[in-house]
Amino acid sequence: MMPDTEPFVFMGGTFDPVHNGHLRTALEIQQWLDLPQLCLIPSKMPVHRDEPGCTSEQRLAMVQIAVADEPRLCADDREILSDKPSYSLLTLESLREELGPQRSLCMVMGMDAYLGLPNWHRWERFLDLCHIIVVTRPGYSFQDDTQMRNFSDRHAAQSAETLRQMPAGRVLLHELTPLGISATQIRRLIAKGDSPRYLMPDAVWDYIQTNRLYGF
Ligand code: ATP
Ligand code: MG
Repeated sequence: MMPDTEPFVFMGGTFDPVHNGHLRTALEIQQWLDLPQLCLIPSKMPVHRDEPGCTSEQRLAMVQIAVADEPRLCADDREILSDKPSYSLLTLESLREELGPQRSLCMVMGMDAYLGLPNWHRWERFLDLCHIIVVTRPGYSFQDDTQMRNFSDRHAAQSAETLRQMPAGRVLLHELTPLGISATQIRRLIAKGDSPRYLMPDAVWDYIQTNRLYGF
């Protein structure tokens, strides 16, 4: 855990597999907020996903390998090792419990995930527990999504400093270096026999080949 005055900032996802879009996002947010560390928290596979190319433990292992040489990033195994279902709300509640009521807690998500938030279990509760940092992702924008645009406007943080001063309750949009990489694209490349090199760390690609994941 980080020093107990710093915000705890994390990014959830399936990381199936982790790629440079995730890692660059995490690093840019860590630098922008000048945090000691930012954690990636892989979730258990959504039940509806068919034919998983690898197990939850393997997705976690790839995230651990990806951050092993970067002290600014860490892998958190709480969702994968939990015997409870992977709901963000449960994770937020467990983090809030650990951090106490005063410490800032921030959840980072890409614009695609943010636009899909209304489908998440009891998402209206999230801002009671954390701030949401929404990062740009090529191909996704508010466009006609007035519900989420209004939600951001209503809860907008003035600045990054607000995220430090309050424990929870604000939404902040942040523009990243655009990287049009997705795990879906990587799974397809591997299944076709093409190389995903330079879209992800070499060490993760080595792990995929050694363990023959995603139809390699
Ligand atoms: P999939 O294609 O399987 O959905 P993904 O690439 O979207 O995989 P996820 O594990 O679903 O990866 O995403 C985890 C989090 O990272 C989400 O909040 C998502 O918006 C964000 N994210 C993923 N890729 C990028 C990217 N290239 N740029 C910005 N954010 C990203
Ligand atoms: Mg995704």
